[in-house]
Amino acid sequence: MNKLDSELVESKLQQRGYEPAASEDDAGVVLVNTCSVRQHAEDRVWSKLGKLRIRKRREPGLVVGVLGCMAQEHKRYMLARMPHVDLVVGPSAFGDIDDTIEQARSRNAALVREREPARTKHDVGGAGVVVVDHGVSGDAIKRNVRVRPHRSQAYVSIMRGCNMPCTYCIVPSTRGDEISRPIADLVEEAQRLVDDGVTEITLLGQTVNAYGRDLKGQNATLARLLRELHEIPALRRLAFITSHPNFLNAELIDAIAELPRVARYLHLPAQSGSNAVLKTMRRGYTVERYKKRVDQLLAKAPDVELHSDWIVGYPGETVADFEQTVEFVKDIGFAQSYVFKYSPRPGTVAEELVDDVPTAEKERRNQVLLAVQEELTAARNRALVGQTVEVLVEGPSKVAGRLSGRTVHHRLVHFPTPEGANVADLTGEYVSVRVTEALAHSVVGEVAPEASFEVGVVES
Ligand code: SAH
Ligand code: SF4
Repeated sequence: MNKLDSELVESKLQQRGYEPAASEDDAGVVLVNTCSVRQHAEDRVWSKLGKLRIRKRREPGLVVGVLGCMAQEHKRYMLARMPHVDLVVGPSAFGDIDDTIEQARSRNAALVREREPARTKHDVGGAGVVVVDHGVSGDAIKRNVRVRPHRSQAYVSIMRGCNMPCTYCIVPSTRGDEISRPIADLVEEAQRLVDDGVTEITLLGQTVNAYGRDLKGQNATLARLLRELHEIPALRRLAFITSHPNFLNAELIDAIAELPRVARYLHLPAQSGSNAVLKTMRRGYTVERYKKRVDQLLAKAPDVELHSDWIVGYPGETVADFEQTVEFVKDIGFAQSYVFKYSPRPGTVAEELVDDVPTAEKERRNQVLLAVQEELTAARNRALVGQTVEVLVEGPSKVAGRLSGRTVHHRLVHFPTPEGANVADLTGEYVSVRVTEALAHSVVGEVAPEASFEVGVVES
């Protein structure tokens, strides 16, 4: 979601004549897009802003902006703590961010002109612009479809905000109420992306499968949207994240089962395998109900792999609760998990509870769960050895001389760059890769000899 928001801001600035700088130090405008979901994410931003404060003493014309959930959460207090910040813009006010930046630039330029040279050594600031509510949402931007992760891949936000009552979560207060975009707008945006060469679209929403429930009388559901987008012939892959277990219904299961170009993974965070913890988290389902829905899905679409998020060390989580989570992960056989240590967030219901699981114990549970997941992932990866998979190439891998990409199951695949091939040309291509080796989080392979790919040609 944040990656897409950054793209929408970049798109807006490019339309206004801005260009990306070669590096942060070369930039005249530095915008930090932030996340508040855990304290750790916020700490990194505070430290980044501290460094920018030092730079701004030397360059008082520099525009520094804080965007996203921390802007929404801290509002004016952000400026009190970081007076060198020029703009504080919440996630629902990106639509006119270019005007906000222009204001900050001209104010800084005036300040620089008025000041004695010696005084510019001191912090400039204290008059920053704060736009956190009632702004124009980023989705209102007629986006520049060229700004995207790579030529074949794009994200599309289908809904903003969240109306769920999860006790630990700050998202509903930073991102506001659920607002779904009409199907016609989404089809139009997808078509523009596809016309520009996109072949994989990932639809985004905090509870993406609750899409449309605020669009009364329009029969707008995720299942219907998937069916409409599936009609675009050049769209080879259609994914969606993140789904909530309560909205995994028969209509969506049928769509996943019947539409072959819908991605074969489902990100369906369970958060805990203990009914007692799920209840205090107010997630609205039990372990049994989660499993029943998953069984219904797998009965119709057995090739779908499940991904989950987990919170360990939630207030009151006992060792026995945690062990139930471990058993649940094994029982479902998740393909991938993101594990988070509980972090109390301001203004949430859970903030009132005693954060009683010691840090070291949270860390232990985190490691145990990661190890369990790692073994499950590794087993799935081992089963791939010898098979040929279709990989959408995302770019160079961390290991020199290799490329990386993903399968329809979102599995990460690395393979040596074919001799004579140009990395830029191959990024965005679909390549057949024969898997030769399984690692803990990815597999390694080689371009299949029978592969019918040509450099620079997009198959359709
Ligand atoms: N809307 C998505 C995810 C939102 S945040 C969903 O409901 O699944 C992404 C993940 O961060 C959550 O799934 C949860 O596992 C984790 N998370 C949210 N708040 C947290 C907190 N206070 N402490 C630790 N992890 C948290
Ligand atoms: Fe947070 Fe729950 Fe909404 Fe996800 S569904 S964003 S965890 S409140």
